[in-house]
Amino acid sequence: MKVRITLCMVFYVQVVLAQTNPPPDGKQDAAGHTSYYPGNMPLVISVPHGGTWNLTDIKDRDCEGAVTVTDRDTKELAFEISDALSKYHGMRPYLIVCNITRKDVDQNREINEGTCGNPEMAIPWQTFHEYIDTALAEAVRRFGYCLYIDLHGHGHPEQRLELGYLISDKKLMPFYEQTEMVTERNTSLGNLLQRKDVGSLRDWLFGERSFGTLMAAKGYPSVPSQQDPYPKEGEKYFNGGYNTKRYTGVNYPNVFGWQIESNYQRVRDPKGRPAFAIAFSEVITSFIRQFPFVKMPTSVADGVR
Ligand SMILES: [Zn+2]
Repeated sequence: MKVRITLCMVFYVQVVLAQTNPPPDGKQDAAGHTSYYPGNMPLVISVPHGGTWNLTDIKDRDCEGAVTVTDRDTKELAFEISDALSKYHGMRPYLIVCNITRKDVDQNREINEGTCGNPEMAIPWQTFHEYIDTALAEAVRRFGYCLYIDLHGHGHPEQRLELGYLISDKKLMPFYEQTEMVTERNTSLGNLLQRKDVGSLRDWLFGERSFGTLMAAKGYPSVPSQQDPYPKEGEKYFNGGYNTKRYTGVNYPNVFGWQIESNYQRVRDPKGRPAFAIAFSEVITSFIRQFPFVKMPTSVADGVR
């Protein structure tokens, strides 16, 4: 009986604390501050705020406006997504992960605010961004275009994915209601929308083939989407930060994407993560396949489940 109870407990602990393993062939800088996992599809995901390693000899950031909160379990979420893409589609995204805590460096701010002026932290800041550069350049070379996602976690009460296309919540509502225009060029889909054969910004925010609409249809509420086009008065919403702006801008003409601020329940928590990663992998592969000019590999395991 005692053995049985112990075995049950071991099993329970393993299930509850299921660890997600990092993808294969990862490399790190000498200090181990930043990890790079190579991909073989037109998708690059960066994880700037998931690091938990607090460097003891580095003073915590305390310059004006410095935010130091960790986006809990976003690194694990990225690993799980990579696993699901590998298992069900035979491909992996490029992943760039910051392992050190945001108390030491903020990888989604320009360098001065990101390091709070600490020259020692300029090195990991640069490495993180060099890795993203490398991944995007390689993906564009191989696949023609690349989708870029900057992955975060929010603590807002609304349990939904907040998709940041660099359009503020103040502008999303009037744009949806067609009382105000948005300059497409300034959104994170600007490079995509430069093409004449891709439909409109409205399609990719609120239409039936938009990422948010497809995720909501899988049971993961998202804003903006057809189901939830804009945050209501008083609701919190992040619309995209430094990385999204930089890597979907004019200097990266074949890159488009958005920021994902993920909720915790059923998305980042260990129990919900595997199912979310499967839904994400299905949506993202079919989303990218809507664009014939992106050379997307064939999914090897189509129809397995
Ligand atoms: Zn964040």
